[in-house]
Amino acid sequence: MKNFKKEKTLVIIKPDGLQRSLAGEIIKRYERIGLKLVGLKMTVPNEEMIEKHYTLDPEWVRITGEKTIKGYKDKGMKPPTEDPLKITKILLKRLKKYMSSGPVIAMVWQGAHAVAIVRKITGGTEPLASDVGTIRGDFVLDSYEMSDVSERCIRNLVHASGSVKEAEDEIKHWFKEDELINYRLVQEQILYDVNLDGILE
Ligand code: ADP
Ligand code: MG
Repeated sequence: MKNFKKEKTLVIIKPDGLQRSLAGEIIKRYERIGLKLVGLKMTVPNEEMIEKHYTLDPEWVRITGEKTIKGYKDKGMKPPTEDPLKITKILLKRLKKYMSSGPVIAMVWQGAHAVAIVRKITGGTEPLASDVGTIRGDFVLDSYEMSDVSERCIRNLVHASGSVKEAEDEIKHWFKEDELINYRLVQEQILYDVNLDGILE
């Protein structure tokens, strides 16, 4: 049987998240839903680390370019180019600059549906279009259009793995095995256990 409790995902509070003094607020949102923090480090990543992070999945280049084009078209706007690969090539350069500009906090969160739950709480890539109630929808106001005009990356406070496979690869990229801690949280009983005997005295 699938062990739901064991699913893990990677979250990075990006340099703007720290500079906006939102680390506590961001951590709180993943914590209060019931996920368990099993790894955490503060670091200043170099450009090589970031390039590797975003190219662990060879499909990311195409998918991200296509997503950007769709983001423009959904608003009835013309994308800067129709070539998804061209978009991501420029983007990767900007991402390296953005993500290595200051300290970040990398974290591993564990629990049932960790990847999907964290993406839901984080919100969509473009803050202008991300839902109210999400981190990117509540705390930042950037857009594809505005970031393009200033030739920079979208500043959206956090990174969150997009799939279980992506999470596995990214966690290995950011953490050594012995940097992740196996432990029990007392609240796991009420979140996962079938038997609730022992609550009443
Ligand atoms: P997500 O972080 O939501 O998974 P992607 O993996 O598609 O998004 O892109 C990685 C990061 O690159 C985004 O979080 C954002 O900071 C930036 N980004 C993505 N697409 C663009 C774009 N078209 N213009 C500027 N920045 C972008
Ligand atoms: Mg992504």
